[in-house]
Amino acid sequence: MKKINIAVDGTSGVGKSSVCDRIAETLQLTHLDTGAMYRCVALYLKEQNTDLEDLEAVEKAVNDIRIRFDNDIVFLNDKDVSKVIRTNEISMMASKTSALAPVRKRLVGLQQEVTAEKGYIVDGRDICTVVLPDADVKIFMSATPEARADRRYKEYISKGIEADYETILKDINQRDYQDSHRAISPLVKAEDAIEVDTSSLTIDEVVQTILDIIHKKVD
Ligand code: C5P
Repeated sequence: MKKINIAVDGTSGVGKSSVCDRIAETLQLTHLDTGAMYRCVALYLKEQNTDLEDLEAVEKAVNDIRIRFDNDIVFLNDKDVSKVIRTNEISMMASKTSALAPVRKRLVGLQQEVTAEKGYIVDGRDICTVVLPDADVKIFMSATPEARADRRYKEYISKGIEADYETILKDINQRDYQDSHRAISPLVKAEDAIEVDTSSLTIDEVVQTILDIIHKKVD
């Protein structure tokens, strides 16, 4: 297969990351998880106690940030933050701080720089529309809020983490609202993206559906 970039957008908790990991492995691509980058920024702004109303301070803070991936490990300024960025508190905060102009400007710039050489599968909210408008394949993954909450609930329970389905569903709905109603780069399905509704599919079926779309487009 020629060297390509694949763009994948979708709502919170739709399974983009796990699916993109599997596709990256199958097609020998590098997976860039842009959500993890926004989560790192949220953590850093929280640690620095940055005033989110002060956009100059936000800009200065995001310019100090170095994010590095090593397989599944995420480093923020050389510290392993893989676990802490996945907490619910950081999920909710990332959804807020990702709406700030200096944050988006810096991260979109970094994402475009990294993927310029091609050979990436990139997942996020604005990948098809802003980061990689010329991507070779564009996918939009969707699932009902209830299906996503149910998956997240089962995942927590299977890991022995206490969970409440209604709270998870409420948080998912709130993040959906914030991500799709912000002024800059709101989550929308790009006109030329192919939608994959994963509500009633297993992860294997989602991976296969997307691989079929990629092969049909690129081969
Ligand atoms: O995908 P994930 O849930 O890890 O993303 C965390 C948050 O980062 C999202 O709620 C969203 O607000 C933000 N995000 C974004 N643009 C992206 C990726 C993530 O605004 N490309």
